[in-house]
Amino acid sequence: MKILDGKSCSEQIRQEIKQQVTDITAAGGRPPHLVAVLVGHDGASENYVAMKVKDCEQVDFDSTTVRYEDDVSEAKLLEKIAELNADDSIDGFIVQLPVPKHIDENKVILAIDASKDVDGFCPENVGNMMLGLPTFISATPNGIMELLRRYNIETEGKNCVVLGRSNIVGTPMAMLMSRKGNPGNATVTIAHSRTRNLKEVCSNADILIVAIGKTKFVTADMVKQGAVVIDVGQTRVPDDSRKSGFRNVGDVDFENVKDKCSFITTTTGCVGPMTRASLLQNTLKAYQRRQ
Ligand code: NAP
Repeated sequence: MKILDGKSCSEQIRQEIKQQVTDITAAGGRPPHLVAVLVGHDGASENYVAMKVKDCEQVDFDSTTVRYEDDVSEAKLLEKIAELNADDSIDGFIVQLPVPKHIDENKVILAIDASKDVDGFCPENVGNMMLGLPTFISATPNGIMELLRRYNIETEGKNCVVLGRSNIVGTPMAMLMSRKGNPGNATVTIAHSRTRNLKEVCSNADILIVAIGKTKFVTADMVKQGAVVIDVGQTRVPDDSRKSGFRNVGDVDFENVKDKCSFITTTTGCVGPMTRASLLQNTLKAYQRRQ
């Protein structure tokens, strides 16, 4: 069993990006600029945005955080998005999801200009991904593809099961794994809450990618001997022994599953850092496209 070390992989990516920024600024260019829009005070969202700002600092990007209280109107948020779309000093921006219930998430996604949609959520970018055209691929699936690529994990002809079908993780992940390419060329099954015989479906997977948000859902009897297992899940559970008062728990029962796997991600600290590195890659790409 080998651990897929997303932390060091993402560190390597950050170093590569930082070098490119050094080259850009040495040639007289300005650094790439990422904006994060944060609505409300959800602990996890605050944390994700703080980490994205820190990542930008590490690679010498400019970053700006735009904050709104929970009660900001949908109109005001859409107005801000229009402003960010038009601002030439900004290469890419994200609106940290979820937004409060009175704001239509789809309206938010549709309002973001595709050329600045570094989260890769808008229809044009999702469509381009489906067609294999240049695009911004949603950061988590993109990060997982990069992880598979950097570890030279064979995916061609393999049975890949993606557990979860969200628009931001499961569905694009399944599309990418089934597309022609390396990684890719896998035979993909998308499983979800209505899938029957889930245990049987999962235990057929050479590559099992899990993104459902249910702690330790995937147990050893659902995993094929020698499988590659990627755990995307991150659920906060209370933990008094931590300063933060919580810890993140994945969707895979790591301790009991690990010995069956050829490769496995750690419960935390693998897909998360790769996701963040992907956002930086997308921002750099957005910058380069605007030159
Ligand atoms: P989501 O939008 O809630 O989607 C969850 C998916 O899991 C749905 O497709 C749902 O099926 C399926 N599901 C739920 N319960 C199931 C069950 N008992 N059996 C089979 N399928 C089930 O979640 P998401 O945004 O994709 O996120 C999934 C997890 O990944 C969360 O823990 C999230 O925090 C984490 N995440 C981590 C990162 C990272 O960077 N590490 C990034 C994004 C997300 P239905 O469609 O049938 O309802």
